[in-house]
Amino acid sequence: MRRHILLLVVVFLGIEIATTAQQAKPHVDRILVNGKIWTGDELRPLADALAISGEKIVAVGSTSEIKSIASRDTAVVDLGGRLVVPGFQDSHLHFPGASVNEVDLHGAETLKEFQTRLAEFAKAHPDMPWIVGNGWGYSAFPNQTVDKRYIDAVIADRPVYVTERDGHMGLANSKALEIAGVSAKTSDPPNGHIMKSTSGEPTGEFKEAAQGLIESHIPPRSKEDFYQSLLQHMDEAAAAGLTSVQEAYTSMGTFPVFERAAAAGRLKLRFHFAPGILPAEAGDGGGGGAPKDHRLKKQLMAADLEDYRKLREAFSGPFLKFGAVKGVLDGTVDARTAVMFEPYVGGGTGIPFWEQDDLNRTVALYDQEGFQVLLHAIGDKAINMALNAFEYAAKANGTTGRRHRVEHAEVPLLSDLPRFKSLGVIASTQAMFANPDATVLENFAVLLGPDRASHADSFKIFDDAGIVQAFGSDWGVFAFEPLPAIYCVVTRMTPEGTPAGGWYPAGRISVEAALRHFTRDGAYATFDEDVRGTLAPGKLADLVVLSKDILSVPPPDILKTKVLLTVVGGRDTYRSADF
Ligand SMILES: [Zn+2]
Repeated sequence: MRRHILLLVVVFLGIEIATTAQQAKPHVDRILVNGKIWTGDELRPLADALAISGEKIVAVGSTSEIKSIASRDTAVVDLGGRLVVPGFQDSHLHFPGASVNEVDLHGAETLKEFQTRLAEFAKAHPDMPWIVGNGWGYSAFPNQTVDKRYIDAVIADRPVYVTERDGHMGLANSKALEIAGVSAKTSDPPNGHIMKSTSGEPTGEFKEAAQGLIESHIPPRSKEDFYQSLLQHMDEAAAAGLTSVQEAYTSMGTFPVFERAAAAGRLKLRFHFAPGILPAEAGDGGGGGAPKDHRLKKQLMAADLEDYRKLREAFSGPFLKFGAVKGVLDGTVDARTAVMFEPYVGGGTGIPFWEQDDLNRTVALYDQEGFQVLLHAIGDKAINMALNAFEYAAKANGTTGRRHRVEHAEVPLLSDLPRFKSLGVIASTQAMFANPDATVLENFAVLLGPDRASHADSFKIFDDAGIVQAFGSDWGVFAFEPLPAIYCVVTRMTPEGTPAGGWYPAGRISVEAALRHFTRDGAYATFDEDVRGTLAPGKLADLVVLSKDILSVPPPDILKTKVLLTVVGGRDTYRSADF
């Protein structure tokens, strides 16, 4: 009994001493001084120094103010006038990312380059039973027409399957078709197309759910492969200045991979997860044979909900956080599968993956349970359906503040913009989608026609409508480096400076607006704006030091800007050799 009392006194004293000491003068571990700090905080937008204690920022101010609270053992970083911004947040990407054992076809802009990369990869990996890769674009092929013969010419003895950079279609070689048993007689599965030549032969191109016909024959990736990929891609992301990322279609099987990295103390990013929700008509991956029976559908959803409730308890941050689900309403413009009110130039209005009624019911169910719902919607009709469902859920449940999101929102009806604002829906857009490369100019814009193309991926329209806009990359699809993406949205030109004057330049936004979408708005999108996304006392010390002041240099210099230091929760996750 006495021992207990004694302990209690000691505990009380301890708390009091700690509290008094903290109020008087927190121990400052590190200060950053003599810089230009863009805080994103309206109370103090600019400063030249800040102090870090543990994982948090404890003070933001002038260099002399900050130096005055430092101790003898405080580490001092002299910024030499360099710019500091809050850590970049990517609100839509796909971790753990591509296997470290796949051929990377991003940026292969010619047929020769496409074939060379495949041939070299095959040569370097002689024992791999399947050759799998990703990242090609239509512009690499003659007349934008893909065909299995282009792969057969370099790899004929082993099966090959490589997906287009959007991931909504893929190209197989003849050997892969043979193994999968796909021939002229094979018919389309639900929600997918097997592309065929005029003579009826499969060309090797598979769209949407038809990809499953090939993918089901590819040996699955090992857990170790996922883990190694996660570690490598986290290093790359930290070097790009990313501190928080939002995983936009989490496969349930990958949670243990993230947990393993957390247990090993190797997480370099804060993750937010959103596993999938499916319509009654589609099976796993959107294509299988799940039931149309609504009773069974209800049971399936209940099972998901139960899992998701448990996950929400298990992963509540600050590094691994769960609380959102994602549905996919349509495909992409490039594949003509994004759902439009009016036909594409050349015909077709896309492939809807959900019926409105089913979508309303499902969204309302998750909304009622307090989950944030992300809906991939690219075409104007799909975006309209997403907004309808959010409106339905809010009315049916009497809920507000769920911060539901439309992912991509590439071609909205202009008349739908006020609905985003009034429903409190976030536009989760991808800055690099406005990069006017050959695919955008010769395929995307042409399929939409000028009326729709003129406001496609125009981030200005969301800003002007007062909508919260969180930027992401859709990595896997595009690179995740925020700096080239900021250049893209302020110029609407390629890194080479084309087209002169920019692609529909009315859609340009300022560097400052782009920074907000990559920092504060990303934190808002995961309900974390009170703990990060701006640099202010009490916030987590997630920040980036840049080699140039992107707020004042000419836009081409943004492309020459380097990330010098990335800090997550006070800990360095990347430091350039030049700093
Ligand atoms: Zn995505």
